[in-house]
Amino acid sequence: MNDREANASSVLGARIGVLGAGQLGRMLGLAGRALGLELTFLDPSPDSPARAVGELLVNDYTDAAALSRLSAARVVTFEFENVPVAAVKTLEASGQVFPGSRALEVAQDRLHEKTCFRALGIATPVFEAVDSWPELVAALGRVGLPAVLKTRRFGYDGKGQAVLRSQDDAQAAFERLGGAPLILEAFVPFERELSIIAVRSRAGEVACYPLVQNHHEAGILRKTLAPAPSVSDELQRSASQHIEKLLAHLDYVGVLALELFQVGDQLIANEIAPRVHNTGHWTIEGARTSQFENHLRAILGLPLGATDALSPCAMLNLIGDAPDASAVLSVADAHLHWYGKAPRAGRKVGHITVRAPDAEALATRVAELERIVAG
Ligand code: AMP
Repeated sequence: MNDREANASSVLGARIGVLGAGQLGRMLGLAGRALGLELTFLDPSPDSPARAVGELLVNDYTDAAALSRLSAARVVTFEFENVPVAAVKTLEASGQVFPGSRALEVAQDRLHEKTCFRALGIATPVFEAVDSWPELVAALGRVGLPAVLKTRRFGYDGKGQAVLRSQDDAQAAFERLGGAPLILEAFVPFERELSIIAVRSRAGEVACYPLVQNHHEAGILRKTLAPAPSVSDELQRSASQHIEKLLAHLDYVGVLALELFQVGDQLIANEIAPRVHNTGHWTIEGARTSQFENHLRAILGLPLGATDALSPCAMLNLIGDAPDASAVLSVADAHLHWYGKAPRAGRKVGHITVRAPDAEALATRVAELERIVAG
């Protein structure tokens, strides 16, 4: 055990370095403050949401002086998965970074991610790497239509991808996306989208949250139902086994999210996020321990908290605009989270969590909140 590990029990006042300072960083910071931690964030944007909960270094992720300041922290983590791997490797050379560069490298490239699923025996859509028009034509011959063409890197919220239903679609999509390395995937006719979040401690202890059901519009997450309705024990067990395999394989420490498609009783892995995740925001009020607190517990070598849901819960993302706060808070057991971002079309500016004693009461409260949010 080295000095840092020996000190893991004395976390009061410990400094956590965080690459990225968006809303995920802000919520990590809020949980960190409750645990008596100090946070230093690095982000190129001066108006980052996490500036309200810690020190913000406004610099590029590769800035040597900023990385050196971050490396003085007890432990460093990231809340944004497109931070340069080189920056994380620089920090790893002088200190501890969790989850670390290996998980980041896999998660940043859809081809590596899906190859990793396949190697671990986790079902994933049929896929092929595509780097040229002839390769796309050949890959379409094997994968078939409909298919989804995606950039291998830097895609988020449905950006950098296109659904192909015809050869014409393929031509148009290749013209738009073809400057970058691509992946072609079979289109999965899923019944619903689910995700599972799990946390692994430095000692290898794992805790899984219940599967949740996610609803997207135009590629952006709108709503999460937690726990997902009508989940059999087998389905939950299968999701937990998948994420546990990934955590062990990546020697992962911290919170990991796995996005899945459900087809019948089968789960098909779409992608991982090596960080706290939007489909885990419900855990702040809805679970015995939030994903943010559990991430911090894990990376500091503290015991993990219980991950059970307290009751049926829903999370609604606020996209583009702020609703009337007093109308939202007039709904029983509703909570408002505001990220301190300037409203802009398509931007996640906050979220609402609502709990209820049963599924029926939850549906009524969610419908009311959706009416309020729609204005
Ligand atoms: P992603 O950026 O990979 O999370 O994709 C964004 C959204 O596009 C997903 O949440 C799905 O709704 C949809 N999608 C992505 N890949 C596929 C696929 N292979 N088949 C069907 N829908 C997909």
